[in-house]
Amino acid sequence: MDIRKIEALIDKQSDLIVKTERALWAIPEVGYKEFKTDAYMKAAFRKLGYELTEAEGITGFFTVVDTGRPGPTVLALAELDALYCADHPDRDKETNAVHACGHHAQCAALLGLAAALKEDGALDGLSGRIKLCLVPAEEGIEIEYRMNLIKEGKISFASGKQEFLARGYFDDVDLAFMVHVGTDNGSGAIYRKYKGYNGVIRKKIVIRGKAAHAGDCPHLGINALNAATLAIQAVNNLRETFLESDFVRFHPIITKGGDAVNAVPAEVVMQSYVRAASTPALDSANKRINRAIGAAAAANGCTAVITDIAGSEPFKEDEMLTVVYNSVCEAIGGKECYEDRSDEWEACSTDMGDVAVNIPAIHPYSIGATGNEHGKDYLIPDPKKTCGNSALLQLALLSSLLENGAQKAAAIKQNFKPVFPSIKEYVAFKRGVTAERNAVKQNADGSVTIE
Ligand SMILES: [Zn+2]
Repeated sequence: MDIRKIEALIDKQSDLIVKTERALWAIPEVGYKEFKTDAYMKAAFRKLGYELTEAEGITGFFTVVDTGRPGPTVLALAELDALYCADHPDRDKETNAVHACGHHAQCAALLGLAAALKEDGALDGLSGRIKLCLVPAEEGIEIEYRMNLIKEGKISFASGKQEFLARGYFDDVDLAFMVHVGTDNGSGAIYRKYKGYNGVIRKKIVIRGKAAHAGDCPHLGINALNAATLAIQAVNNLRETFLESDFVRFHPIITKGGDAVNAVPAEVVMQSYVRAASTPALDSANKRINRAIGAAAAANGCTAVITDIAGSEPFKEDEMLTVVYNSVCEAIGGKECYEDRSDEWEACSTDMGDVAVNIPAIHPYSIGATGNEHGKDYLIPDPKKTCGNSALLQLALLSSLLENGAQKAAAIKQNFKPVFPSIKEYVAFKRGVTAERNAVKQNADGSVTIE
């Protein structure tokens, strides 16, 4: 389809897009608690005439637009959740939640896309299906709350896209994209895309020793804080073994360092992420880090319980889909309209990685936010432009992928090599990542067993 025709289809949705962005900005909610946001978006989609499949027992939903001609299914995603920022002026004053990552703008853009797809002629010349999906819980926060949801059997995974994959909601999907909002760096570009993002395993570490009077009889105690600092040093000693190309990150914090200043610390609690650029590198680094923590605890006579929680998979932008994205950007605004940062690896993480290890995917940005991402000054000053450009990119991508009998989409699908043989095997692997381990056993005969 002609790009100016696509622009006109999106332009018509400007009022709806801006109204939605403003409405969702006012009701920020964090992951798996996006009840008002979910209800608002469901009502808005239904008003456009969409039939929805609701995620059972949790927030989120999807709908399918069928062109009536056979072909691949392309998934367009948006995230429902906000995050916490206690000093943001527009935060929810009760919960401190605020959309300081701009996910509400993704929802507004996806609704604009949904409205454009209902316009006369929008599907002309396209083949295949378009799946529009609103997912919960991208931000990796409130882990204890989510672990409780897992224990209660309400979810299987802490993050929304993992959960939707595990439920089979993406089994019929051949290609996927999600357009995030990007920060304005003054380059004048309206789109940006990187090479990819690290995967992550989240970790809670409890090191236990024995309390005793710190002045009078420290020889009768077992110092868990000494073990914890040695554990951090033991992992630091591993850093020279991490390949530069694997972008391994380990960034622990101590959330409990002892009970009383005059007692030998009996229990120390730490949290950390382990991140890396590929699934095997993440697995390998995580195992070595766990061994180092266990050995450091053992060396000090302590025990260590290490809880690993499956985070996002590493995300590599699909190269063939990137070629289509580049050409679509050029059609929209020429070479200046997009920042090609496809040689830059980002060491942060997104659960779009879980989609991308199974399905060819991209995660570009529509630029237009100011201030710091996740910070107190984060704003989207011109939602009409930022969300409108996002919707425009998405409709143009769909058009390019699904025109001419969906040739491009079919070729990308055929060329794709998933990290896991099937989504089922991916889910089984992810279930195995989350585990609580007694890393050290201090045996009665004085010997030590390290798992
Ligand atoms: Zn985000």
